[in-house]
Amino acid sequence: MKGKFPLERFAQMRTPFYYYDMELLRATLRAINQETQKYENFCVHYAVKANANPKVLRSIREAGLGADCVSGGEIEAAIRAGFPADKIVYAGVGKSDWEINLGLDNDIFCFNVESVPELQVINELAAAKGKTANVAFRINPDVGAHTHANITTGLAENKFGIAMRDMESVIEQAQSLKNVRFVGLHFHIGSQILDMGDFQALCNRINELQDQLESHRIIVENINVGGGLGIDYQHPNRVPIPDFKAYFDTYAKRLRLRPGQKLHFELGRAVVAQCGSLIARTLYIKEGAHKKFAILDAGMTDLIRPALYQAYHKIENLSSEEPMEAYDVVGPICESSDVFAKQMDLNAAHRGDLMAIRSAGAYGEIMASCYNCRPLPIGYSSDELF
Ligand SMILES: *Cc1c(COP(=O)(O)O)cnc(C)c1O
Repeated sequence: MKGKFPLERFAQMRTPFYYYDMELLRATLRAINQETQKYENFCVHYAVKANANPKVLRSIREAGLGADCVSGGEIEAAIRAGFPADKIVYAGVGKSDWEINLGLDNDIFCFNVESVPELQVINELAAAKGKTANVAFRINPDVGAHTHANITTGLAENKFGIAMRDMESVIEQAQSLKNVRFVGLHFHIGSQILDMGDFQALCNRINELQDQLESHRIIVENINVGGGLGIDYQHPNRVPIPDFKAYFDTYAKRLRLRPGQKLHFELGRAVVAQCGSLIARTLYIKEGAHKKFAILDAGMTDLIRPALYQAYHKIENLSSEEPMEAYDVVGPICESSDVFAKQMDLNAAHRGDLMAIRSAGAYGEIMASCYNCRPLPIGYSSDELF
């Protein structure tokens, strides 16, 4: 089965472009809300870095999620899309002064702080404005994740977060500063995680750290466990919505929250990946010495995940019902890594055929570049095309 695409509309459109199935996005958001509404203290923030297309952002805001930002530009995008400032959290190892000031001016809910020097700068900038900034500390929990090495973030060797052994002294420093208020702990162990055991390991670690803090009478109002829930790249049609029940239930069962504590999540990929496809035209079918190449007008400038992470994306030939043949599907960019898939089975392809590169809603359009002086791909929502 192929996804449902408005092929007649596509036929007249300039390629490549991103196409967002807004029905699927809304169904995904309903599934998230259905699971989290079982727990009154769960708050979900959408990780804007996965996809900041305005139509996508607006739909996510309408579903009531908060926003997790990692730059000043993302804070601006979130505010423009209507996210309330008190539902915006801001993380990142290298926050510039203007970005911190932007967060302060907008009274965002919380800065997720990753170092002592950063804490001091936030305190100074807040003091200059006569404000008090809410801060949570991002702790590096030294928990591995069974995912690609480039997308683990919670190991001691990674650049992210504050080492566990420094946690208490950093909290004490925050308590001694006038213009910051310590409001919680933040964690994020990586991305595209499908093994609930990885999230359980994070829960166990947080339980240990909470016990330790409790023995020193340090009260934590908010626990933020980050994001990272993966999706099924192999089967976008069969598994269009991730298993949110298993994910949220893992935290509900394993994490020992204290009375009144709020639990925050920052999901990116799991919210938007499956609703997006990169639509490209086939330029040429080339018979190589040992195999066939399908050369598309989309390349790694439009979707870099295969080149960057050796990521798998299912590809479908939307224009053909002919018997399957294997192709190396490649782009036009002058880089050997500009390959979307090797030996992908496609309905026999011809020049002009429209291809859908699936599960491309997360870390797709937002990572596009102008390398080779190519124009950036446009993102269309199904709401505007049907
Ligand atoms: C990237 C990121 C997320 C979202 O990760 P996903 O794997 O897309 O869910 C959440 N929190 C932080 C701090 C991040 O950097």
